[in-house]
Amino acid sequence: MRLISLLFIIIIEIVGIKSAKAVFLDISIYSSYNVKSIDFSPLSGKYVLEADERIIRDFHKGEVINITPLRDSVLLQINHTNVGLFKEVSIYGRGFLNAFSLKNETEKLPSRSYDDHLKIRIIAGQLQLINNVDLEHYVAGVVQSEGGGSSDDMQFFFVQAISCRTYALVNYLKHTVDGHNLCDEVHCQYYTGRCKSSDITRAVARTSGEVIVDSNQRMISAAFFSNCGGETVNSEDVWSIPTSYLKSRTDSFCTSMSKAKWERIIPKEEFLKSLDIAFNFPLEDSLLVDSALNFKQEHRKTIFVNQIPLKQMRREFKLRSTFFETDVKGDKVVLHGRGFGHGVGLCQQGAIRMAELGYDYHAIIKYYYKDTKTLHYSELKYNFLPQF
Ligand SMILES: [Zn+2]
Ligand SMILES: [Zn+2]
Repeated sequence: MRLISLLFIIIIEIVGIKSAKAVFLDISIYSSYNVKSIDFSPLSGKYVLEADERIIRDFHKGEVINITPLRDSVLLQINHTNVGLFKEVSIYGRGFLNAFSLKNETEKLPSRSYDDHLKIRIIAGQLQLINNVDLEHYVAGVVQSEGGGSSDDMQFFFVQAISCRTYALVNYLKHTVDGHNLCDEVHCQYYTGRCKSSDITRAVARTSGEVIVDSNQRMISAAFFSNCGGETVNSEDVWSIPTSYLKSRTDSFCTSMSKAKWERIIPKEEFLKSLDIAFNFPLEDSLLVDSALNFKQEHRKTIFVNQIPLKQMRREFKLRSTFFETDVKGDKVVLHGRGFGHGVGLCQQGAIRMAELGYDYHAIIKYYYKDTKTLHYSELKYNFLPQF
């Protein structure tokens, strides 16, 4: 077994992705919909239909191919005329730049366009659509889908592109049991199709292949959130898993941004009652009640009062963050909060502010991920080929 593993590593070292061969991922698309029927249309390039291990025919720009499940097979039709009934279908782009659209207006599915190839199969009577897509096209699509509108600064796009690429490669086995690499929902990374922004496309091309690695040259888990309120959080304080790079630090960049502060007013009686119900809080102990009503954290703490973890307080009261203080105004408790999100890793609003101030993306990544750097994935010591 060890010999096989060693051989595997050696082969990968030699063949590796140092050959700069494009990496393709299988992304399950429309994964939160029950697609009963969908229309495929080539937008650019050339498309070839392969089914049941045979080349069936070409598809041309302007043609509309209807895809429907029929028992355990895929029925393809053009203008209600059958192209065929197949077990597994792949529609491969064979041109220089290949893109296609998918739509079904009667079922109110969102119309989307995608780069590269489409695979179709039937799982338990339902259509499963897989976008077999070049990693770089996928990264551009994710950067646009996940918040391309939050900043238009190129340095911030560089950071997002590198984070999304790192996530995709670290997690490329996440859906192996389902027969693909990643889904298109927030469970993996939100992906609604091909990128239409030229700035994002440029940012992805400029950082092509770049990923974030720790001091041992291992790709990192590039956690991020909206705003830390001035101090980020150790990964072990939220997820019980320590890392060398997800370490707490002060952040002077996000504190003037839109999500730096929040406030929540709760009737005092309701607040104490909730503490009692959720955490069995000793309401008869006036000292502890007083501490709960006048809780302070100049720097981030992990524990509220009476050993209640702050992350449980956040969940119970549905708070924007665990970084809050309390005081009393009349018969109300006022929660004065800072930040938005779990606080581990990269603070998006801080990163946007750094980009606006002229910091380059390497500086931004190092600021939030301790002792890390970026390199091309072909330079990784132990490589892999995320291709099905
Ligand atoms: Zn997923
Ligand atoms: Zn911050």
